[in-house]
Amino acid sequence: MIDTSLKTYGEDVFSEKAIRDFLPKAVATKLIATMKESKPLDPSIADEVAHGMKEWALQNGATHFTHWFQPMTGGTAEKHDAFLEPTGPAAAVQRFCGKNLIGGETDASSFPSGGLRSTFEARGYTAWDPTSPAFIKRHANGATLCIPTAFCAYTGAALDMKTPLLRSIQAVTRATERLMKKFGKAGGHVAITLGAEQEYFLVDRTFYLKRPDLLQTGRTVFGAAPAKHQQLDDHYFGAIRPRILKFMTEVEDRLWRLGIPAKTRHNEVAPAQFELAPMFEDLNLAVDHNMLIMEVLKQTAEANGLVCLLHEKPFEGVNGSGKHCNWSIAYGGKNLLSPGDSPRDNAIFLTFLSAIIRAVDLHADLLRFATAGAGNDHRLGANEAPPAIISIFLGDELSAVMQAIEEGTRTKRTGRLTFKFGVDTLPALPKDSTDRNRTSPFAFTGNKFEFRTPGSSQNCAASQMVLNTIVAESIDAICDKLEARGGDFNTELQNLLQRLIKKHKRVLFSGDGYGDAWPKEAAKRGLPNLTDTLEAIAPLEDPANRALFAKYGVLTEGEMASRHEIAAEDYLSRILIEGKVALEIARSMIRPVVADEFSRLATAIGQAKKDGLKVGVRGLTALSLKLGAGLDDLHVKCEKIEKAIAKGEPRGILAALASLRSTVDRLEMLVDDAKWPLPKYRQMLFIY
Ligand code: ADP
Ligand code: MG
Repeated sequence: MIDTSLKTYGEDVFSEKAIRDFLPKAVATKLIATMKESKPLDPSIADEVAHGMKEWALQNGATHFTHWFQPMTGGTAEKHDAFLEPTGPAAAVQRFCGKNLIGGETDASSFPSGGLRSTFEARGYTAWDPTSPAFIKRHANGATLCIPTAFCAYTGAALDMKTPLLRSIQAVTRATERLMKKFGKAGGHVAITLGAEQEYFLVDRTFYLKRPDLLQTGRTVFGAAPAKHQQLDDHYFGAIRPRILKFMTEVEDRLWRLGIPAKTRHNEVAPAQFELAPMFEDLNLAVDHNMLIMEVLKQTAEANGLVCLLHEKPFEGVNGSGKHCNWSIAYGGKNLLSPGDSPRDNAIFLTFLSAIIRAVDLHADLLRFATAGAGNDHRLGANEAPPAIISIFLGDELSAVMQAIEEGTRTKRTGRLTFKFGVDTLPALPKDSTDRNRTSPFAFTGNKFEFRTPGSSQNCAASQMVLNTIVAESIDAICDKLEARGGDFNTELQNLLQRLIKKHKRVLFSGDGYGDAWPKEAAKRGLPNLTDTLEAIAPLEDPANRALFAKYGVLTEGEMASRHEIAAEDYLSRILIEGKVALEIARSMIRPVVADEFSRLATAIGQAKKDGLKVGVRGLTALSLKLGAGLDDLHVKCEKIEKAIAKGEPRGILAALASLRSTVDRLEMLVDDAKWPLPKYRQMLFIY
């Protein structure tokens, strides 16, 4: 039964309450200041913090601790050490000291480093991130204390996702403070927030185990479209089946214990597709929490005889899964992306909005890079996901405001609206506009931007790190311009934003992002359309982009080069695995079944002819012709994909795979249903 009292909420977290309960008062105060206000950590408190943390963990059944980090594999990593320390023969105590808490040394030789770590220097270092609280992971026989950490090489080069994320938060925080000073505000705490909506599929484990493609690649490389899939829109927001609800409540129970504010659950568009959305939180914490959400979804599915698929496109022909990243900046507890009530608040809002528009227009290529990957390639631009072209949707009211600023208020009245900085207030903008454009990759949704391009399996840190950096750069550019002028502030600001909007409005698009017309229009506007991972990672090699990340101290040139190498390698490896799995299934599972069926028919035809039967021969012959042609086709296409695999060229493999798939999917409709070796879409997507 679920605990409805909320007594267990956050009980698996070394929370503010646990910190106060287990640490001396002065130590607790210092640690909480570091967590909440990012104050530098006083190293002299480490031993006392470690001791209190251990006592808390032991009380919760923990035997081991681990530095928990996010290497560039896309997942999380942990290596457990027992608290146990022998004190003599057959005697031991539980020990955990400040040194164990603050840093760890680990053999990093098998984590991707993209050339950052030479093989003779295999050590990697983990460093405690005190801004994300420690937590425990429970298992059947106890628990493990997990300490969120950053992971780097001997040289200090980042080998993980968290390090550049933290650096980017610092960059955008500094830029925000600088701009807020221009509006006469100082001392407010800057908070970057993220609410990540997580989509996923569930399939029954018995089907999953019979699909080598799902097992090995997370997606089905074969499978004919079922007669009914999502045409009737009857799954979206439909009544949740009891088995799924049981699963969802178990997920929520575990997440709530971890202090993860899972809030929304519903059926998604595709059959067997669902969504979980937590309440937004501080960005760094929200990223850690999303990694845990993915883990809990998978483990809880397994415990329920299900499998949770986080792949962006596990089934062809139905919607894929994304991870909508809702992002905003708050200052002194107030959301800067929320239009205010006073002329000054509005000027602040419009300045940040313009900075973001400029950033997205100038660096759309980098946002696209941050969402690249073999899985997400299948989703972007597939008529149900945002296109690979990055554009911004503002909504009617805000678009009208931007237009009024662009056209200038002093010279011209634009329809019903004029707008003058420092004088006018904004017209009331509906906070929850109903006309939200679901086809836009980057949409303003009342008080935040929703970036919809990231894939369901991806670490949010990738896209958020880029977003923070490019917005920091834009805010700084605005500050630089304002400082260079120095006339009347409101007039200068108005003129500056007018120029900015003129220059960058090409990135604004409120039409149908799924339509055929948009890619043509986008090309005319000069917006990049990077359709696959190979194109999407190329911007990492651009010297201007390297300089940008270096300037903000988010990624060095070397770190960017390594990320490029890792992304290219990961992409090729995944495509090679898909190609090999497809070839193996086609040759060793599909072909024998088709050959048997063909030979059975051939025998029957021969027998019928010998017996002089007048009926049946025609039907049998027609089918055997189709099966025979299919067999030949299968043979040719297997040879083709085998050659493409040998060449190791991803685009060639993908083309050969698509062609092989069309043959296999045709055969699926011809061969005796009882003999087909793979569970079908109409089973996997509907029986659970
Ligand atoms: P949907 O986009 O499905 O309509 P909601 O509007 O309810 O969903 O919000 C989606 C996500 O946006 C939730 O995780 C929510 O907490 C988050 N969110 C709301 N306000 C903010 C904000 N200011 N900053 C970041 N995320 C936010
Ligand atoms: Mg959404």
